[in-house]
This record gives sequence, structure tokens and C-alpha cells, in this order.
Amino acid sequence: MRSARAPGIGMTSQRTRDRMVQRLRERGIADERVLSAMAAVPRHVFVEEALASRAYEDNALPIGFGQTISQPYVVAKMIEILLQNNKSGKVLEVGTGCGYQAAVLAHVFEEVYSVERIKALLERARGNLIGLRLANLRLAYADGGDGLPAAAPFDAIVAAAAAREIPAKLREQLAVGGRMILPLHAGDAQRLVLVERSGRAFRESELDAVHFVPFEAGKA
Ligand code: SAH
Repeated sequence: MRSARAPGIGMTSQRTRDRMVQRLRERGIADERVLSAMAAVPRHVFVEEALASRAYEDNALPIGFGQTISQPYVVAKMIEILLQNNKSGKVLEVGTGCGYQAAVLAHVFEEVYSVERIKALLERARGNLIGLRLANLRLAYADGGDGLPAAAPFDAIVAAAAAREIPAKLREQLAVGGRMILPLHAGDAQRLVLVERSGRAFRESELDAVHFVPFEAGKA
């Protein structure tokens, strides 16, 4: 039973969520579009009931299938960086997982596409998202290494799994003036990398150290 999910009580209340947002501000997230999206999306809906009381701590948590829900700070930071060019049209997320970041994206972008390679997880995400009624969000069962050609080009692309190198098809599906942010392996560590497209040129910059699950090929 997930009866406590909708309005949220105690550790899953709006007040608890607002405290999480306050901590994001203190850590340096300043874009009000991002902060209000983080305040709006009930993160506890995306984790198992047994973990719901920990949903507003700033940590990654397990979501089954060896995967995790991303840490709130990292979700906020990635979206804040994507929005720095003020293009909030169409975004592609690679790695829907439980659907949390997709829901946050749906509060700031006009159109959101999110792909996941593990079918059972995608179905779980659909279940988690159903009550939120996000009409501008579309999920697809696909290998994100192929991007989503039918919906390309994208103003923004965000990956929630760490690849060894930037997938060429994702690069191609980035609109001119668009931004992509993704974690990449760098030796034993991982770093967020920002890719900015201007015309045919791509500029890459390395940002914070992070820890994501691996980007894997093919569907499961
Ligand atoms: N966005 C999620 C994080 C999910 S974890 C959140 O809001 O918390 C990352 C997800 O990426 C996992 O579910 C994993 O299955 C998925 N993934 C890894 N490689 C992928 C690929 N090539 N295509 C699509 N999804 C992929």
C-alpha cells in the first residue's frame, strides 16, 4: 500500500521537501525554475515505501535492478547547467530509472523525452509518474546510445548513467545552441561533462566529480 504517497505526511510532507530545497540553495543552486521544480516533485513517490522517510535526504537511493535514484543536488545541478542558455524547449533524458528526474524536467522544459533500457524499470517509472499527470513527458523503451531520432533535435540532453565516451548519436541529435550534460568515466573516477553545440562545433568542459551507475549498451 502506498496510501501516504499523495499529499505526504511527516517525512514526506511539503515542509520536508521545502527543507530539501533550502539545502539545495545553501549548496549553491540558484535558478528559481529549478528550485521550484524540485519543490513541486514528490521524490518519495519514486522510492520504495520503506525508503520514503529518507527520500528528502541529499543521497542516491536504490530503486531495484542494481540502479539508483539520483541525488537531488546532482539532479538540480545538471538541470541548472542545461538551462544556462535559456533554451527550455525540448529535452532528452537517457536513463529514466524510477522517473524522478524526468518529472523534474517536465516542470522546466516544454517537452520531455526520457528513454530507459530496462523494460521492467520503465514500467515502474510509468506507475510512479501516473498520478503526477505530466502531459508534456513521454517515456520510451530504448537504448539511449541511439538517442531518440524520431524526436530530435533536442535543445538539451542529459544522461543519468556514466559512459566511457560521448555517444556520437547523442552529439548529432543536439540542436545548434543546445547543451548536453553527462557523466563520463575518467580513469577510476567520473566527471560531469558539458557539451555545447554552436553550428558544427562542439565545446566540451569538465565539471564536478560525480558517481553514477554505468551506461550500458542494448536493451534489457
Ligand atoms: N534518472 C533517474 C536515474 C536513474 S539511474 C533518476 O531520476 O533518479 C540511471 C538509469 O540509466 C538506469 O535505470 C539504467 O538502466 C539506465 N541506463 C543505463 N544505460 C542506458 C542506456 N544505454 N539507455 C537507456 N538507459 C540506460
